[in-house]
Amino acid sequence: MSKAYEEFKTYLDRAMALKTAMILFEWDNETLAPKEAGELTSNVIGTLSGEYFQAITNDRMKALVKELQAEQGLDEVQAANVREVADELEQLDCIPRNEYEDNARLVAKSTAVWSRAKKDNDFDSFAPTLKKVIEYQKKFAGYRAKDGQKLYDVMLDTYEKGFNMENLDRFFGILKEELVPFLKQVTESKKKIDDGFLTGDYPEEKQEKLGRFLAGYVGFDFDKGVMAVSAHPFTTNLHNKDVRITTHYTDRVDSSLFSVIHEAGHGIYELGIRDDLTLTPVGQGASMGMHESQSRFFENIIGRSPAFWAPIYGKVQEMFPDQMGNVDLDQFVEAVNKVEPGLIRTEADELTYSLHVLIRYEIEKQLIEEDLDVEKLPQLWADKYEEYLGVRPENPAQGVLQDIHWSQGSFGYFPSYALGSAFGAQLYYHMKQEMDFEGLLEQGKVDVIREYLRENIHQYGKLKDSRTILKDVTGEDFDPKYYVRYLKEKYGKLYEVEA
Ligand code: ZN
Repeated sequence: MSKAYEEFKTYLDRAMALKTAMILFEWDNETLAPKEAGELTSNVIGTLSGEYFQAITNDRMKALVKELQAEQGLDEVQAANVREVADELEQLDCIPRNEYEDNARLVAKSTAVWSRAKKDNDFDSFAPTLKKVIEYQKKFAGYRAKDGQKLYDVMLDTYEKGFNMENLDRFFGILKEELVPFLKQVTESKKKIDDGFLTGDYPEEKQEKLGRFLAGYVGFDFDKGVMAVSAHPFTTNLHNKDVRITTHYTDRVDSSLFSVIHEAGHGIYELGIRDDLTLTPVGQGASMGMHESQSRFFENIIGRSPAFWAPIYGKVQEMFPDQMGNVDLDQFVEAVNKVEPGLIRTEADELTYSLHVLIRYEIEKQLIEEDLDVEKLPQLWADKYEEYLGVRPENPAQGVLQDIHWSQGSFGYFPSYALGSAFGAQLYYHMKQEMDFEGLLEQGKVDVIREYLRENIHQYGKLKDSRTILKDVTGEDFDPKYYVRYLKEKYGKLYEVEA
């Protein structure tokens, strides 16, 4: 290791330690922290983030990065870490330190305000905070924008390199054109699916037990991971020996079960990252979209297939004899794939899901590019739901307050959910050529599929971006046609309609 890289690594380790501490506080805020902790803890986070800022942007670090960028002898991992830090330096350095810290404090407080507002069903109590969050995000994007780049494009690029309003307008355009009429065919089809048995008296302890079984069954390692409860299920990774997932419990048993499989998918990605990459900037998922491709792959392509449940459905029936004793495997699988336009994104079926994302994409574009008045959000949100999905939220908790993202300042994140689904479908059609996908699931060999994903995707962390991964694995650039094909084949068959 060169002397310069060694010194660089010392600063980097310090920065990563500070970041890991901040991530742990964020996790704690959402799961176990007492109600009144928010204010003071947000001050602690503010200080830590200032120290992080300093560890990355100090003059010595800047000089080292410059020196290392010119150095020839770096290996692949070293070069990637220098590249990531240079990127981050460029992003951070343009933001004045006091604004950076103010924003970190604001966001820490804002999620608490959002959480209370959602509970009280009171958008007005969140609106002023949200307005401030948006102002900061626009300001920061403005600092980072290059050559007249639009602010929302800057934000989109943060989560998914190479994606912007131009190609996302095209992507969502295809989905709208193909899926809206197809959804109409499905909802008007004669096929009726009964999913009544999924709602009812499902005790939390039993849901948790089944959730833990399923997470372990798909390969989430509880020696390197934990599972807790939060308002909105999410995954936090500290490093590849400590990955944390959450879920929530309602009277719909499939809600927690599939959120567990989804978050386990995120967790498996992080656990699969190579040891020499973890706790470095390269040691995390390639992009938000690639992350969602994996979580949704586990949740939907694997988790909602009949082949997946064939070897384990008996166990589910044993756990819930009163609720599922008389429901056979086919009925169960049909029920968990029932298409029903609804209000809540995280509860949406696979077919309507991308329309929820489309709505958020269109609203974000207006918030960032057209200065949409925050006060108008509940109304606009409700109108769009009525237009695309034919349902209208009766209150903000079921509408604009449902997601945590905006309170965290994550604008430009939502499109990656739809992109991830599309990445996953493309991977799926390729994998079917490489292996007996359904056959493996029927034999309970999820591990073969998981290992393929680890080998081809997870281990690399951020060494490759999402487009390169898709190309290396499937031999093709990103192509949304596979996603449309997947949905039409699956739901055309289920609802007995011609796609
Ligand atoms: Zn996810």
